[in-house]
Amino acid sequence: MPELPEVETIARGLAKRVTGDVIESVWLGKKKEPLKSPAAAIAAALEKSRIVNVRRMGKHIVFDLENAARRPTPAQWIVHLGMTGSLRVCEPQTEIVKHTHAILTLASGRELRFVDPRRFGRLSVSAEFDATGIEPLEIDLDRFVALFRGRKTPIKSALLNQNLLRGVGNIYADESLFRAGIRPRRRAASITRDQLASLHAALKEVLQEAIALGGSSVSDYVDAEGNEGFFQLQHRVYGREGEPCLVCKTPIKRVVIAGRSSHYCPKCQR
Ligand SMILES: [Zn+2]
Repeated sequence: MPELPEVETIARGLAKRVTGDVIESVWLGKKKEPLKSPAAAIAAALEKSRIVNVRRMGKHIVFDLENAARRPTPAQWIVHLGMTGSLRVCEPQTEIVKHTHAILTLASGRELRFVDPRRFGRLSVSAEFDATGIEPLEIDLDRFVALFRGRKTPIKSALLNQNLLRGVGNIYADESLFRAGIRPRRRAASITRDQLASLHAALKEVLQEAIALGGSSVSDYVDAEGNEGFFQLQHRVYGREGEPCLVCKTPIKRVVIAGRSSHYCPKCQR
């Protein structure tokens, strides 16, 4: 499942390659699941529109579209990659692989294709899309602290709650809790402001490091240029159950919180 840094990397890659291009025509496959908006609405919003910008919002990729004929109605194409979705910019003669659900023909002569074997990805159009929650890379400390006030849920669950912060997934929640020295099961409301300040800094740090490396996906998936895989951020706790803590050598523990694996060092995290 691509997490925030991977989606950021993909959005930046797409922005570089397709900004300014015009969508000439749209083909959508017959499978219903990937289409969150009706096929006709997607085609109407995309066809003959110019791609003004591509950016990430939470774990969504947002294409801002402009169409002189439809002014002033803004349009956005929203792509959520789900578990296995990918967006590929390719030449028209490139073989159309199985599980291709959308093909956009661009004025530059290239195609933008959406491929998703497991079909958890979603395509939609919107006039003014707004994902739930606050952007973790932009939130200031006061708002961050306020998110957890009075919350009896484990801090790990609160970090994954997309209504609070948008786009934080399992890997970066575990890694930021380790860096902040906070156990994943701690009740959010019991964490001091100083500790939340450490977590606020750690979360931004770990996301920014991963973005700098180009994401750290553990699953197989493809960036905008069709390159498979990304650099892997050195995980300090995630996926390291039983291995020695990089700081104190205590074996890393794994517990399940709200159905998700959580990894932590029982000595460094309190
Ligand atoms: Zn440790």
